[in-house]
Amino acid sequence: MIENLYQRLEECFGEMVDLRRMLHQEPELSFKEEKTPRMIADYLVKLGVEVKCGVGGRGVVGYIKGGKPGKTVALRADFDALPIQEETGLPFASKNPGVMHACGHDGHTATLLVVAKVLMEHQEKLQGTVVLIHQFAEEIAPGGAIEMIKDGCLDGVDAIYGTHLWSTMPLGDIGYCPGPIMAAADRFEIKVHGRGGHGASPHETVDAIAVASSVVQSLQHIVSRNVNPLKSAVVSVGAFHAGGPFNVIADTATLIGTVRTFDPEIQQLVIERIEQTTKGICDAMGATYAYNYEKGYPALVNDPEETRLFAEFADGVHPNTHVYQMEPIMGGEDFSYYVKEVPGTFFFTGAGNKEEGIMYPHHHPKFDFDERAMLIAAKLLAGNAIRFLDRNKEVQPKAKTKL
Ligand code: MN
Repeated sequence: MIENLYQRLEECFGEMVDLRRMLHQEPELSFKEEKTPRMIADYLVKLGVEVKCGVGGRGVVGYIKGGKPGKTVALRADFDALPIQEETGLPFASKNPGVMHACGHDGHTATLLVVAKVLMEHQEKLQGTVVLIHQFAEEIAPGGAIEMIKDGCLDGVDAIYGTHLWSTMPLGDIGYCPGPIMAAADRFEIKVHGRGGHGASPHETVDAIAVASSVVQSLQHIVSRNVNPLKSAVVSVGAFHAGGPFNVIADTATLIGTVRTFDPEIQQLVIERIEQTTKGICDAMGATYAYNYEKGYPALVNDPEETRLFAEFADGVHPNTHVYQMEPIMGGEDFSYYVKEVPGTFFFTGAGNKEEGIMYPHHHPKFDFDERAMLIAAKLLAGNAIRFLDRNKEVQPKAKTKL
């Protein structure tokens, strides 16, 4: 069955591309998706898939119940876009000003839709159930995954798989990673309150810019001096807002940044060290502060056994592919919530192509991916789901022999 399934996916590659380009032209922002989930549901209903809409808000879940009894495996694709003005110049570029599929979620969705189509053609032979999780709002915490799980999208699910098309990995690369593969992605904000005044009279003020500058400098010490060098952490200050006229000492300064970690203990250490550092500097310089830390998605931790089995299976599924254990990525992904509930694995499908100028990173206004990566992703997702069901198929009781 699996060879026939791969062949059908190859035959349907043109449709995958059409779907992707259609989705690409009409991107929708996280938590504001309307047309996209409707289009997904319509497509699945036409295939004869049992569909639930509005799951967790805007999610769409499809159920393909196989002809034979067995376990249940889920495949997930996200479908939201980003607030970015597209600059690719592609003939199928976004028609929504300021909104762009700049992370490849259009590709994830097109891939899973065609996987659904081909799995439906093989429905009678399936040894169990395949659940298709089309997720809204991956880009903005709290994200869609957690709401979809609360609304039951993982009920009865025994394992889950997902992938990200990745433009900075060449087409043909397939990266897996047992254990942590993507980081916890958090946001912090520090407001330093000084005492403003005349630029000519610094002795009568507490300069919020000078204090906040010291805070930024000292935050650099957390990763280099406090975190165990064999563990990972990132502390990045992405914004520094302060000041106005040239001759006025600023009253307040605001720092906004992100923290990325894999280990909850390191995360806690960083949370505390940011505050201790800020407090120490503000106390010394006569300023006060307000510190706000928001935890984003938890780290995405792959099940080691599911990842090992995936790696074993992925080798040789598609010609000219290179399956390897990749380094974890410090980006965040709310696929993490699914693998906290059920075993599963999230892998990266290379989609870059330097010769064709496809090399811009994700979230870039010129981001694009080599569409052939969708076919590889489709084979890996569909194939791995079938392998899971076949591996766990219910053994039919043997007919009793007469005494
Ligand atoms: Mn993404």
